[in-house]
Amino acid sequence: MSTHAFLSPSASHRWLVCPPSAKLCAKATDQSSEYAKQGTDAHSLCAYLIEKALGRDVSDPTENLDYYDQEMQQCAEGYADFVIEEYGKTRQSCGDAEVMVEQKVDFSRWVKGGTGTADCIILSDGTAEVIDFKYGLGIMVSADSEEHGGNPQLMCYCLGVLEMFDGIYDIDTLKMVIYQPRRENVSIYTMSKTELLRWAEDILAPTALLAAEGKGEFKAGTHCQFCRAKATCRKRAEYNLELAKYDFEMPDELEDYEIDDILMKVDQLTAWASDVKEYALNQALLGVDYSHFKVVEGRSNRKYTSEEDVAQAVTDAGYDPYEKKLLGITAMAALLGKKKFEELLGGMVYKPPGKPTLVSKSDRRLALKNTAQTDFKE
Ligand code: SF4
Repeated sequence: MSTHAFLSPSASHRWLVCPPSAKLCAKATDQSSEYAKQGTDAHSLCAYLIEKALGRDVSDPTENLDYYDQEMQQCAEGYADFVIEEYGKTRQSCGDAEVMVEQKVDFSRWVKGGTGTADCIILSDGTAEVIDFKYGLGIMVSADSEEHGGNPQLMCYCLGVLEMFDGIYDIDTLKMVIYQPRRENVSIYTMSKTELLRWAEDILAPTALLAAEGKGEFKAGTHCQFCRAKATCRKRAEYNLELAKYDFEMPDELEDYEIDDILMKVDQLTAWASDVKEYALNQALLGVDYSHFKVVEGRSNRKYTSEEDVAQAVTDAGYDPYEKKLLGITAMAALLGKKKFEELLGGMVYKPPGKPTLVSKSDRRLALKNTAQTDFKE
């Protein structure tokens, strides 16, 4: 297997933290998820809409998209508008600004076999902007990161951009943008060329070398959820099972600082446990015999054999088999379109306060006032 297959920019946030994961992942089979296929379709639509807006000769891919729907259309249109707006702003200061869509970039000077495809690049004198479209909903993606400054995937693309275009545009600043419409997230981070090249030399290149050779330290953390070895990795198991130490710690009840410690890990712990369960089920279905576990048929609910036949039978008997329900907000917005929705229903939509939820202090939401404590004091 070539190094390029596993030292990909999109997985760089993982292999930069846990270099040997790259080789471990390369051994596992690549099962492209439904979400990934949906993302690929959305990217095709995005690329088409930008090229079309720029007046280029492109063909509409819509009829070949398996996952195309109204939401995808709206997200892609929003993204294309954003790109064109960014391009317009750039052109005000640089008449030679250029937009590249789905541009292959090569940063193999630092990462052996390192290539990738940047969704969109806007080039102008002094600045290169790399815009990455994320169709995923699950995780909010940021253009910056604590460990590297910027998002490492975008930083790899920016290195590729420097390799190709620095000579032509004399780039000194790199602007990285994540556009994630389904989370209403537009995240921007700017970095100088000097900073980027220093990171590439000091961090990226040496770590990529370790990763390519399967060397370096295993390190578990939130990045494990994107690792193909996540169910069987020993390091991740050790990391999560560290919680077992609370079984034999001295006091009978946990102190607040210990609860704090557990809360820090509990999401990862439950994610790990369900990854192991899912893996074990698949293995058992393939014939692996676990001494304490067996596969049985899960619970199921009764179903109609044919909804049409049921509706007909109930209607013939003189009853109405259907219930009438108001469309939900998302479906209603899709039916009416954003503008009409605002016009007709803007004043009839409200957001009730959410249930109190315990989250990490790094979460951007403001902390709720502790009402129980205040009441008590009063
Ligand atoms: S599961 Fe986590 S610790 Fe294990 S190889 Fe993957 S990223 Fe590294």
